[in-house]
Amino acid sequence: MSSTYKRLNTKVIHAGEPEPRIGGAVIMPIFQTAMYETAGESDYHAVRYIRLNNSPNHLALHEKLAALENAEAALVAASGMAAISTTLFALLSVGDHLLVQDCLYGGTHDLLTKDFAAFGLTYDFIDADDPVSWKRKLRPNTKAIYVETMSNPLLQVGDLQAIAYFARENDLVSIVDNTFATPVNFRPAEWGFDLSLHSATKYLNGHSDIVAGVVIGRADLVTRVTHKLNHLGGSLDPHAAFLLHRGLKTLALRVRYQNDSALKIAQFLESHPAVARVNYPGLESHPRHQRARELFEGCGGVLSFEPKGAVAAAEQFLKKTQLATAAPSLGGVETLVTRPATTSHAGLSLEDRQRLGISDSLIRVSIGIEATEDLMEDFDQAL
Ligand code: PLP
Repeated sequence: MSSTYKRLNTKVIHAGEPEPRIGGAVIMPIFQTAMYETAGESDYHAVRYIRLNNSPNHLALHEKLAALENAEAALVAASGMAAISTTLFALLSVGDHLLVQDCLYGGTHDLLTKDFAAFGLTYDFIDADDPVSWKRKLRPNTKAIYVETMSNPLLQVGDLQAIAYFARENDLVSIVDNTFATPVNFRPAEWGFDLSLHSATKYLNGHSDIVAGVVIGRADLVTRVTHKLNHLGGSLDPHAAFLLHRGLKTLALRVRYQNDSALKIAQFLESHPAVARVNYPGLESHPRHQRARELFEGCGGVLSFEPKGAVAAAEQFLKKTQLATAAPSLGGVETLVTRPATTSHAGLSLEDRQRLGISDSLIRVSIGIEATEDLMEDFDQAL
């Protein structure tokens, strides 16, 4: 049915909703049951059991999420990291090699640097902007290439179209963490990506009250990841699924507002005398602004900046802001600020952070849905 809904604003409301409505319920009910009466299933993965990701709450979400990115299939997981780790372990086995963007969410970076070797997996970091480095690092055992739509926390925009093309040419699975962009701003399947991953803890849910993950993309690959998730066990609880489902209904409204607000605040910060540097792809000064305009419908609600005056100035900003809460997440309706060197990227060595350009004074801001002018006034007094 999802294909009958053309536009995103309609899909977030109607795609994947059960037809006929369950007991007439207008809102998808929570199926708080661990198992279902056997109905003659013979395949293990078809057994209706909460961990096997096939409750009505799971299935409705899978259909809605696939529709949002115009992709074939989707899967929800217990967290963004469950989606990421399960995808990588489903696609790679002992002896395989991964090409992966060098500036990544810290948890993904830690998974590679701290856990991959024990599973017999290897990786090479690449500059997502430099196709020559991809070719140089490609090996006969390379199976996949992994990037982020906008890198966390520097908001770099790699050559995403070239990455998807390179993957096809070299028989690699292309994977993009699309958390920052959301399906509102970027739909990876439309640009040739095989799989798109999300921390649904962030924008997809949007209310900072659950942890969840999502895998969207080619049906054959989503099935492989589903079977791996069935074995590893990182399934989403039905109550969290219900909250994610509810949050998704306002995704388009929230994200479009956040796109506008973040751009205005990035422009305001860029012209502020107490600010040294602002990273936001929507700014004309961003090195990949033109690319961002071609790829994205909006540049999202996250920006990062460095105040003049190093770490002390950054700490002072975090203390003095009254509307923004200092907390290590993003994508909610409330504005959050954090210093990645002490939170999301604390797992990286100082040397790695310096090499990537993540300074100790860098502040990441996730713009909520408060009045833009109120946030500007607050940031102004805090600076
Ligand atoms: N991907 C990105 C870009 C993130 O920012 C995060 C978390 O901050 C994750 C993945 C991991 O998601 P989760 O915390 O839901 O496991």
